[in-house]
Amino acid sequence: MSPISTFAEPSAHTTVLADRLRDITESATLALAEQAKALAQAGRPVIDLTAGEPDFPTPEPIKQAGIEAIRAGKTTYTPVAGIRELRAAVADSVNRLRGTSYGPSQVLVTCGTKHALFNVFQALCGPGDEVIVSSPYWVSFPPLVRLSGATPVIVPTRESDGFVPDPAAVERAVSGAARVLLINSPSNPTGAVIGAERLAALSRIAAVHRLIVVSDEIYDQLVYPPARHRSIVEVAPELVERTVIVGGVSKTYSMTGWRIGYAVGPAPWIEAMTRLQSHSTSNPASISQYAALCALTGDQGAVARMREEFQRRRDRLVSGLNGLRPLTCAPPGGAFYAWCNVRGLGQQGSATAAQWLEDALVAVVPGEGFGAPDFVRMSFAAPLSTIDEALRRLETWLSQPRGRR
Ligand code: PLP
Repeated sequence: MSPISTFAEPSAHTTVLADRLRDITESATLALAEQAKALAQAGRPVIDLTAGEPDFPTPEPIKQAGIEAIRAGKTTYTPVAGIRELRAAVADSVNRLRGTSYGPSQVLVTCGTKHALFNVFQALCGPGDEVIVSSPYWVSFPPLVRLSGATPVIVPTRESDGFVPDPAAVERAVSGAARVLLINSPSNPTGAVIGAERLAALSRIAAVHRLIVVSDEIYDQLVYPPARHRSIVEVAPELVERTVIVGGVSKTYSMTGWRIGYAVGPAPWIEAMTRLQSHSTSNPASISQYAALCALTGDQGAVARMREEFQRRRDRLVSGLNGLRPLTCAPPGGAFYAWCNVRGLGQQGSATAAQWLEDALVAVVPGEGFGAPDFVRMSFAAPLSTIDEALRRLETWLSQPRGRR
């Protein structure tokens, strides 16, 4: 039999996949977005609140910087870890905001923040290691950990506690195999912002158990007063030697498609990740790097305007949802997601999301993919008029007798 005939059945292809891919499924946030897109393409007036990206255009000066980079011929390979000016700009930006003293050699520029996380776990974790992840978690955290061979250890947070990690629960989850404590503040999907006191308690656990801290701060600029973002390295400067901060320009500057993120941490770890990156993606796109340089070093007015608009939308969506019994929604301190509790409907997030899409043409992301089946995630990266229409549709849906909806 020729080797090719082994693959006649589609299932035969699946059986030859590498083990590490067996339990990696497609991102749950994308599945609903795909269905919503298909309905919209078929001409149905779908309201899509699944978006994980700002709906604003990339600010004009940043676009121009990209165009100028092309015109100036900055279209060749760059150093693997990124152009020196951008590494310095990332270090300066983190230092200004967090009072740290990182240098350019402590910065790796990556193809998006997701890629920074991929590099971090590949470089620092392996089989037998455990990574502590709070739930609800961003859908990609567990697969990113598993792809390194390590095991995610999920520690649930409580709604009554504002979805911030409970240090006692984290401490209980630390076994002899624990290697990394993953922190994501502001959180996707809950929008929870971890205050200084909790960060200090978490930092003590990391110090006592000699854990590495990976702090995903991608939403650090999208925080709504009185909430205030603090980085663990601000609260516990002594942890700087065992912490990697990851972030990027995707959310802050509405640059999701440009694919620029970064990891900031101890130079030997950055150097190891750079070696890994040199054999995988090489440098992130040169043009995007120049655009990101403009974003970080230019006028920050557009960021403030986007943040104010997100806050208006958050207030409208959250108060609207809380007026639609039995739905409830705690106001998120940051990011651009309303994390809506649907338990009162007597069904879980996936059933709710399916019905809302079918009956009301409102697309949201079920909580199951975030490890929290009683919830759905609703993005407020959508204009106020769209949010109002979504609320009207949900109100109509809820007003119908149960058997009819
Ligand atoms: N980390 C969190 C918490 C996110 O929500 C996202 C995107 O949704 C990312 C990382 C990845 O962002 P990027 O587009 O920079 O890869």
